[in-house]
Amino acid sequence: MTSPLQEFRQFIHGRAVDARSGATFASLNPFTGEPWARLADGGAEDVDEAVASARAAFEGEWGAMTGFQRAAILRRCGDAIAANAERLARLEVSDSGKLLREMLGQLNALPQWYYYFSGLADKIEGRTVPPVNPNYFGFTTREPVGVVAAITPWNSPLLLLTFKLAPALAAGCTMVVKPSEHAPASTVAFAEILHEAGLPAGVLNVVTGWDRACGEALASHPGVDKVAFTGSSATGAKVAQAAVANYNRVTLELGGKSPQIVFPDADLDAAANGLVAGVFAATGQTCMAGSRLIVHADVHDALVEKVVARAEAIVLGDPTEAATEMGPVANRPQYEKVLGYLQGAAAEGATFACGGEPDAERGGLFVRPTVVTNVSPENTIVREEVFGPVLAAYTFTDEDEALKLANDTPYGLAGAVWTKDVHRAHRVARKLRAGTVWVNAYRVIAPNMPFGGFGASGIGRENGVDAVHEYTENKSVFVELTGGTRDPFQLG
Ligand code: NAD
Repeated sequence: MTSPLQEFRQFIHGRAVDARSGATFASLNPFTGEPWARLADGGAEDVDEAVASARAAFEGEWGAMTGFQRAAILRRCGDAIAANAERLARLEVSDSGKLLREMLGQLNALPQWYYYFSGLADKIEGRTVPPVNPNYFGFTTREPVGVVAAITPWNSPLLLLTFKLAPALAAGCTMVVKPSEHAPASTVAFAEILHEAGLPAGVLNVVTGWDRACGEALASHPGVDKVAFTGSSATGAKVAQAAVANYNRVTLELGGKSPQIVFPDADLDAAANGLVAGVFAATGQTCMAGSRLIVHADVHDALVEKVVARAEAIVLGDPTEAATEMGPVANRPQYEKVLGYLQGAAAEGATFACGGEPDAERGGLFVRPTVVTNVSPENTIVREEVFGPVLAAYTFTDEDEALKLANDTPYGLAGAVWTKDVHRAHRVARKLRAGTVWVNAYRVIAPNMPFGGFGASGIGRENGVDAVHEYTENKSVFVELTGGTRDPFQLG
């Protein structure tokens, strides 16, 4: 007997609401292949209602609060997330097939974001600016941008929403979020939890929709003031165009093809472990996946052997079980895309040191962890984001060449350098064209460290002190001090 589907309605103005059309869609669990939840299939009229609610909250109760009051609510949000971490993590696992231990780790860490940004909410200050003209007193204020439209992908819905929401709330903005059609449920539950924790009605609204028109309606809505997007670079460009058509602010967190450079003096066991963390954790479905191994020719074979040995021992299986290390690919279109890249790599002459195919034993949406060798920098598998458990390995012989290869990409989200030479570590970290660089580590993030990309990996930064500024307008105020009359035909 199949269990009944869990129901998730949209969350608008503090209430669970059906789509205006009454339509629904089912969310599939990628591990079981079965539908597990039913969601409201919202459209443009639902987006209108959510934006109106966010506007009302911005112009009402929330907009009137001081930073101290917002900080207190942000702290309560953090507490509520901690209390509900397991429930939210399980919803994300059902939707995306990611490991429960990975999603529990994310959810248990999320309160830190709300505590960190609560600490900034009461410190958003302008400046007193020394006068050029002594007849004027000048100062600046930071004011909230207003209504933020957030559009998120399926791979880590609540973490990536939090990168936007925590600083936006600290700044005094309100939000309408549209989660991915492939993993929408946790966002609805999250908004309800934050509302119960004290976030006033309308401050965080959620619209869900199967059709991409729902996201389009939000990105292009004239009633929003800023669009904050995480997703693919191709969609990001469309979203930015829609936002700019309304003269809206926009931040984009997009894809990547991040390099891991391994020098011959590196601790190869540590590097192999970092490579596994970088590209096989989360089934490689992370924007910061370290999917290019750029290794010194002298240690290529030894390192690839270590990575392959670990990759072949990875336990694939039920994402909710503690022993499982890799779950399925999150949805069928993504699975087909990953297999397409593997076929393309073989057609371009690459060889597979391991993997290279679906997992025959498991079936479903499982792909074997794959290390691709015999590739050159022009190959598609080296240039394009796979968003799956696929590492492409190729070699260099000196530091300049390593950097040239690493930076030969339209992306620039992240990268790592593995070496015991502290001078070289700093030199390479400085020359890598990427928003985040790890030295002898991979896949580490923190609420107080900026995150975002160079080039096709995005515009703007999330996390860190400055993230709050992405949700403020900087206003200049001049106050005339003399009470006299000036020449109206001269610039002051
Ligand atoms: P996607 O671009 O297909 O979709 C992202 C979101 O945009 C979804 O909610 C989708 O419904 C919506 N959308 C699609 N078309 C739209 C349009 N025309 N207008 C408005 N909204 C639209 O991405 P995805 O497949 O969900 O996620 C995978 C991608 O996200 C990868 O490329 C990955 O690198 C990237 N990603 C980036 C980061 C980061 O922080 N840089 C983090 C995670 C994922």
